[in-house]
Amino acid sequence: MSKYVESVLEAVKAKNANEPEFLQAVDEVFTTLDPVLKVHPEYQKNAILERMVEPERVVMFRVPWVDDKGIVRVNRGYRVQMNSAIGPYKGGLRFDPSVTLSVLKFLAFEQVFKNSLTTLPMGGGKGGSDFNPKESPHTPGKRCSDAEVMRFCQSFMNELYRHISADTDVPAGDMNVGGREIGYLFGQYKRLANEWTGVLTGKGLSFGGSLIRPEATGYGDVYFAQNMLAKRGETFEGKRCVISGSGNVATYAAEKLIQLGAKVLTLSDRSGTILANEGISEKLLKDVMVLKTVKRGELAELAKKSKAVKFFPGVNSWQVTDKIDAAFPCARQNELNGEDAEYLLKHGCTLVGEGANMPSTPDAIAKFLEAGIMYSPGKASNAGGVATSGLEMSQNSERVAWTAEEVDAKLKNIMKAIHDNAWEAAAKYGRKGNYVVGANIAGFVKVADAMVAQGVC
Ligand code: NAP
Repeated sequence: MSKYVESVLEAVKAKNANEPEFLQAVDEVFTTLDPVLKVHPEYQKNAILERMVEPERVVMFRVPWVDDKGIVRVNRGYRVQMNSAIGPYKGGLRFDPSVTLSVLKFLAFEQVFKNSLTTLPMGGGKGGSDFNPKESPHTPGKRCSDAEVMRFCQSFMNELYRHISADTDVPAGDMNVGGREIGYLFGQYKRLANEWTGVLTGKGLSFGGSLIRPEATGYGDVYFAQNMLAKRGETFEGKRCVISGSGNVATYAAEKLIQLGAKVLTLSDRSGTILANEGISEKLLKDVMVLKTVKRGELAELAKKSKAVKFFPGVNSWQVTDKIDAAFPCARQNELNGEDAEYLLKHGCTLVGEGANMPSTPDAIAKFLEAGIMYSPGKASNAGGVATSGLEMSQNSERVAWTAEEVDAKLKNIMKAIHDNAWEAAAKYGRKGNYVVGANIAGFVKVADAMVAQGVC
């Protein structure tokens, strides 16, 4: 590692000592940039790395709301506006008790490079709250009611609306923020700003949403993997795939894999993992989607009723079966560790396509790279969601609605472009086949060049 990168990393560690997720994300990107920094001395001269690790702005605010029993509750809200060099801030909102400034800074940092990779003009941001829609504050074991979620979203937007607009910052969904929450947030924004603009993406189809946006991250993850397989002359036909998560990204990745002839063996949630050793059927997958998005239940409940699956309480998807061709981590950060990586490699896995953000630990990534398998980092392979959000923004600006086929075709092209750019950047800098290096460099260069051109700001 060069002295420049080393000194920047030391300074970032000293300044953000209590932000482990953020430090992990910065380390992962900066330790791959030496080849490009060597041929572009202007990046160091303009302190590009030092500026990239400081968010342009962080807003942190109180979110008071009243629960169904009339009790006042208080949560913490955030928006991290990381980098707007190549376009308005863009990135999701996450509602989960695990949300901290460190988690949101890591996600916003990743988002900068991911958005750059999409080929669309979008800067990077991320936001959310420690609000937990999955746990009622007054009735243990129950979820928040729709009315509670609505009151929370309205209060959250009462502050956030001052900091966003279609040309400044365009949030979207993330963990626990789906169509229901985006609808409530959009309704409150419209009321406060007295204007109808594409200020949020992931909207319902009747009010400016894009066809294929819900499917886009999961489908895009699989399209990226298809491109990796094509380089080796392979397809998904008959491949045995393990997936973690059973939310938006996981279920649509599963849907696309099944359509392409793969066998999807597992899905998981906080209650545990379901395994169908000969493949989850389309019907069972639909049942999981209804369970998670309509009934808002747990896989443990489904497993009790279905003879088609085995259930492993409290464990993730990686070590429950012994013949695996591909793995798709689609739930959360750091959910696949070195031991899981060793298990996967030992049991035949030759492809890992990250759907979640930073799901593999550094130890696991090192093992995948050492084994020379096809490994795509989330910032490249899960960029289909934000890319399709970019397409939603274009449709809103033009007041048009493209067909599902049109959007899907654009998504496929974007995922191929991301794949090819990462592949070519890795080859150009002497690391052929290493998508980590390729994605980091390709994403970085575009943002760095824009920052240099815009002067010290
Ligand atoms: P989601 O719909 O809320 O689903 C998240 C899934 O992860 C759920 O199955 C959830 O289980 C599981 N999970 C969360 N925390 C867990 C924990 N501590 N232990 C075990 N399981 C846990 O969220 P999503 O939109 O699919 O996002 C998943 C990942 O993809 C995140 O890393 C997100 O940042 C990333 N991502 C999402 C998008 C997008 O468009 N949605 C785009 C790019 C990247 P429960 O149901 O039990 O909570």
